[in-house]
Amino acid sequence: MPADVISLRAREIHFSTIVIDTHADTPQRFLFDQFDMGHHDAEGCVDIPRLRAGGVSAIVFALWVPVEITGPAATARAFDLLAGVEDQIRRHPDDLTLATTAGEVRAARKQNKIGILLGVEGGHAINNDLQVLRQFAARGVRTMTLTHNAATDWADSSNAAARHNGLTDFGREVVHEMNRLGMLVDVSHVSDQTFRDVIETSRAPVIASHSCCRAICGAPRNLSDELILALAARGGVLHVTFHAAFLSQEYANASRAMAQDKALLEQAARQKFGMNEAQKLIEEQRTSDEWIRAGKLPQVGWGKIIEHIDHAVRLAGADHVGLGSDFDGAFMPEGLEDAAQFPRITEGLFELGYDETDIAKILGGNTLRVMSESERVAGELQQGNP
Ligand SMILES: [Zn+2]
Repeated sequence: MPADVISLRAREIHFSTIVIDTHADTPQRFLFDQFDMGHHDAEGCVDIPRLRAGGVSAIVFALWVPVEITGPAATARAFDLLAGVEDQIRRHPDDLTLATTAGEVRAARKQNKIGILLGVEGGHAINNDLQVLRQFAARGVRTMTLTHNAATDWADSSNAAARHNGLTDFGREVVHEMNRLGMLVDVSHVSDQTFRDVIETSRAPVIASHSCCRAICGAPRNLSDELILALAARGGVLHVTFHAAFLSQEYANASRAMAQDKALLEQAARQKFGMNEAQKLIEEQRTSDEWIRAGKLPQVGWGKIIEHIDHAVRLAGADHVGLGSDFDGAFMPEGLEDAAQFPRITEGLFELGYDETDIAKILGGNTLRVMSESERVAGELQQGNP
């Protein structure tokens, strides 16, 4: 088929399908930049015009709490971010709606609105209190990564030395309570042992909301083939992320070699913007672009995303792969710089010979399936009928 026919057919498939992105860090921008999603914004990756242009039906907004913030302040930060998201939904009622179930994602699409899903990033946000977890659930939060880049008091992270050798007993209680509340347990950022403990503990399928394949790029947050198979065996979904340092080993190596430059950059950005994480990330993005132009970092193309998707599909099947960009929180590859570029994924898969059914599963169908399954398990647990 000629390229323009592929492109036309891919666009037809893309825009007739539910497309879900399971991870974006945009809420920081509401809190720190007074950013409004209503207009196209050159600095970030996500706004209403670009979600529409990219055919995105629903997106998980991460309520990310940096690991330096602990105790009640961590909970407060997550709720501040949540209030920022609610404010955006109130301001744009014709475009956005809160979605808390698979059915609500479908209903949002029928009404031509973008479903906003809420996810806590960093289990320390519950401040070791299941009551706080329940408060998040009551406000519509439906996913939580058990850790960010450091261990919590009850779960180890992929990015720091092990403190507990996986999940503690309380960590298992957190997983059980998330199952009861219908919240998806998100294993992105946890250590391999925490992952295995979660798989053993969780009654519902789990997700990795923004991780790639370690077989292609050895970043600790990426999943080994063994873990991807374990996730799939329990019905879970790996959502491939777009962060250049998780897509490309070459980029990751070069980026590690620049650790000192990056530390200096981070320090400078922190001084300039204080704790304003959103501005810090924008500054890092701008500098990474400069470094690529100067040849200090290799260019990573969006085709790498397709490579990771295809690896995971060949390994575990098309029922276990989805998409989680990490927009507004990471460095994007060339060609997928923002949410408007989403149709490229469909085009790339179509070109590789994927059929419409498998493409629809990867774009959002699999995420809807795990949401429904999690809702079903929660219903059974709440009736005391496990
Ligand atoms: Zn993350």
